[in-house]
Amino acid sequence: IPHDEDTQRGDSVRCLTTLGHFGFECLPHQLVNQSIQQGFSFNILCVGETGIGKSTLIDTLFNTNLKDKKSSHFYSNVGLKIQTYELQESNVQLKLTVVKTVGYGDQINKEASYQPIVEYVDAQFEAYLQEELKIKRSFIDYHDSRIHVCLYFISPTGHSLKSIDLLTMKNIDNKVNIIPLIAKADTISKNDLQKFKCKIVSELVSNGIQIYQFPTDDETTAQVNSSMNGQLPFAVVGSMDEVKVGKRMVRGRQYPWGVLQVENENHCDFVKLRDMLLCINMEDLKEQTHTQHYERYRCCKLEKMGFTDVGPDNKPLSFQEIYEDKRQKFYDQCQREEEELKQKFMQRVKDKETTFKESEKELQEKFEHLKRVQQEETMKFEEKRRQLEEEIMDFYKLKAVSGTLQTLVCTNIKKE
Ligand code: GDP
Repeated sequence: IPHDEDTQRGDSVRCLTTLGHFGFECLPHQLVNQSIQQGFSFNILCVGETGIGKSTLIDTLFNTNLKDKKSSHFYSNVGLKIQTYELQESNVQLKLTVVKTVGYGDQINKEASYQPIVEYVDAQFEAYLQEELKIKRSFIDYHDSRIHVCLYFISPTGHSLKSIDLLTMKNIDNKVNIIPLIAKADTISKNDLQKFKCKIVSELVSNGIQIYQFPTDDETTAQVNSSMNGQLPFAVVGSMDEVKVGKRMVRGRQYPWGVLQVENENHCDFVKLRDMLLCINMEDLKEQTHTQHYERYRCCKLEKMGFTDVGPDNKPLSFQEIYEDKRQKFYDQCQREEEELKQKFMQRVKDKETTFKESEKELQEKFEHLKRVQQEETMKFEEKRRQLEEEIMDFYKLKAVSGTLQTLVCTNIKKE
């Protein structure tokens, strides 16, 4: 650290240069060492039609044959294939997760094609949020699966974006950093390619689709990043084939009329993509994912759950206050529901009582009626019995009279 006194003595003073680092100037080295020890992770989402060159481009980017089987065109829905690889370059370890669409663009109705992608991206945010909300969090061994970049593969039609492209990008642009790519750019002429790029950019702008912008706030990368922002979408070519060019072997695609060198900047934008994605902006992509996209998801989710930073009077609210408020509201709601249930129960009891009373009255009336009918019947029977008894009495009387008459007649006959 230079002293004022030392600097005032001028050039005649011999300055000592330090041999090593000491003090807090060593802080960056500590961070570098720590990061190297921990290793890095990076999650890429590749969205594009089947056979558009997603797997080949990822292999070319990481210079590794990640051994992926060819996808079929006959899926009834769009799906996602998730693969994680442990890669190493010198002493840097990278845990790379590649998520690729399967069956994208293969259905007749393409309206819902973006849904599985949105659901997957949200699910990774949700998993991270759940980890954050845990009491015992374990971020040290947590595999952060949030998508850091979406490489969107555009078909090299030379015309314009397809409606599936616009729909998908529109639905994911506030969830993930999109880098649009013109796939298989070797199938389109240089002139057409430039026009196609302009057309894509104007379509993205007119549809209000936000694509990732390489950051220009760091002066060491501002120039290259701003120049690259003007060259999006990158026109890429992928190939793992080694082709002979002069005396060198290069990655490229061999055609009857010549060789397309993947790593030649005059042939395609592959190197630009690799530099921007892996060498210069990987950390920014991760930071944007955390500070922009995840933050938006988290904020929305917590608001939906009823959390807020300020109260209705615009005064800051602590977590404790929100919790107490929610607990009180919940308690009040329980009370209200209990009261409602009680009321309903009482009403039902009353209704039942009235119905019972009505039935009882009806029964009583029926009983009274039957009783009356029975009494009348009994009276009728009594009357009939009395009449019968009278008839019997008359009969016996007649019988007695006829007996006496018979005896008299017999006596008279005998006398005669
Ligand atoms: P994916 O289904 O999107 O993963 O596509 P693949 O990476 O499996 O590629 C499908 C076919 O396209 C393969 O035969 C590749 O060799 C070929 N291919 C991949 N990239 C390119 C490219 O940039 N240009 C050309 N012409 N063909 C390519």
